[in-house]
This record gives sequence, C-alpha cells and structure tokens, in this order.
Amino acid sequence: MSTPVLKASMHVPPMGEAARVLQEGLAKNFENVTVNVVDCPDLTQEPFLLSAKGICGSPRLADVGGPPYLLPLAQRDKVFNFPLISKLVNLPGAFIVGAGAGPCHVVGVNSELIGNVKVPETDTGTAINNSYIAKTENDACVLEKVNSTDFCLMGNFLCSEGKPGKVIEVVASRRTGPDNFMTSLRTSLADHYNTRPVALGGTFLIESGKANLHIMPDFSKTPLKSDEDVNNWLKFFEMDAPLVCLGELVSHDPDLDLRTEHFHCFSTHGQGGHYHYDTTPNEVKYRAYFSLAEFVYRIDQPKETHKVGR
Ligand SMILES: [Zn+2]
Repeated sequence: MSTPVLKASMHVPPMGEAARVLQEGLAKNFENVTVNVVDCPDLTQEPFLLSAKGICGSPRLADVGGPPYLLPLAQRDKVFNFPLISKLVNLPGAFIVGAGAGPCHVVGVNSELIGNVKVPETDTGTAINNSYIAKTENDACVLEKVNSTDFCLMGNFLCSEGKPGKVIEVVASRRTGPDNFMTSLRTSLADHYNTRPVALGGTFLIESGKANLHIMPDFSKTPLKSDEDVNNWLKFFEMDAPLVCLGELVSHDPDLDLRTEHFHCFSTHGQGGHYHYDTTPNEVKYRAYFSLAEFVYRIDQPKETHKVGR
C-alpha cells in the first residue's frame, strides 16, 4: 500500500524581510535579539554535529503521521524510514533533521527521536546517521545513538540538499516574555504574515541555562484520552545547556492537520528529549540557523484526528 502524501506551497518571503520580522517579534520576548542573513556555518562541526555541512538546497518540511497514531493507544504498525521520506518529498539523497518518535522495534521501547540523517543517493548506498534516541530507564533519561533509519508514529523534519548557503541566524538571550523560543519565532511570523504560511526548520542551540524537556516512556497500556492523561504519562526533566535542538515550525496550518512547532534536543552529556521551554530566563542564550521551507509535505495524515498531545 502506498503512503498518502499531500503537498502545500509555503509563502517564502525574502530572507532579509523574514529576518526583520523575526527581529521585531522576538524583541517582545527577549532582551537581546540579533537576527541576520549569514552564510551557514559548517554544521558538521561542534557543537551541532549534523550529518551534512548545511541546511540549504530545496528546503521543504515533512510532517509525518502524528499524535493520533500515539494516542489514545499506540499504533505500533506505523513505521516509517528516512530513505522513504526522502523519496516522498521528491528529494533523493535528502539531508533530514528533526523531531519524531524513535523506532520502537529497534530500541525495544518507545522513545524520542532526534533525527539527523543524510540519506544515500542510491538504494545501495549508506546513510550518514548521527541520530539519537532518548528513552527512560528507571525514570531516568538515557540518550544514545541509533543506527537505524527507521522511526515510528510521527515526525517533523526539515529536508534539504544539505548544502552550504544563506541561512537566517538568530541570537537571543535573557528571556523577558512568557513564550518559549520556538513559539516566539512562530508567533512572530504568524503576527506578520497572518494566513500566509511561512515555514522554517533547522537547528537551535541552547548555549547557556537549563530547559524543560520531556521523554516519552514506553507505550501506555491504558488509553490516554486528554492532555492531562498525557502529561501524567510523560516524564519531564530539567536539562543542562549546551543542548542542540532539531526541528521545524509553520506559522499557519493550511488545513493539513499539521503539528505547528516541534523540536527535539541532544547533547554530548547524556541528556536529550522534546523541548518545551527554558527554565532559566535570565541565563538562557539561544543561537539558531534556519532555512525557509518552500513546501510542506503531509505524509500519512491520520484520518481520525484530535488535538491531544500537541
Ligand atoms: Zn516531540
């Protein structure tokens, strides 16, 4: 059976214009904000450790599956893989970064996926895979590399050719408003562009401070029917910078049942998971590199949907 795919064009403003919109919007939430269009630094280097040098060339988002495949009970047959996603977004050999659910048939339990894969150009080639999974063991966080290019249930990814090029750089510190970094970015775009959907993806670094992250434990045996059920099931942790976060956001959902913001973080100190917000507004410093996506591909959109767990 083939995987259903819908495609929507995004509004792609000139990068300088988007940078000015973000500069103005983020200033409502952060004391210090600098947004510029720059040459993408080599993201294979520390601290980012990505699987390709850049996030440029035919940038597009993939919104795969969704929380309705996890809740109220997990559908374990919802298994995807990055070579398939690369084909479905019409970008052979794509470089894919973002947030999903780990391959439970490989890991043994449910987990958070921090996806970071350069798909091979040919079916016989080898992927460059620096993805991590974060799982819980005895209620503690375990972060480990995962060799598989499979994932389960859902994912929100930026796909590109992995090339160097111009990107939007955001540096923001000392949070003065209530919104987290990704929500602040998204609402800045939404307030300016209204129903014209603007999408971006890539990476942000939490350079200093601490952040609240969750990790999904193994699948719930009882149905999770409300956000309260989900929050009681999830394991929340305060984790330490530096944390590298990968994911994407969309300012307006063009009726595709999108998850409008989703970033997962990894580190080299054994911590990682799903980003919610920083817990140290005075100390926090963010540094981000983003591409503006031309399209969103909605892959295997759940037929029966709900808003729980977003
Ligand atoms: Zn997540």
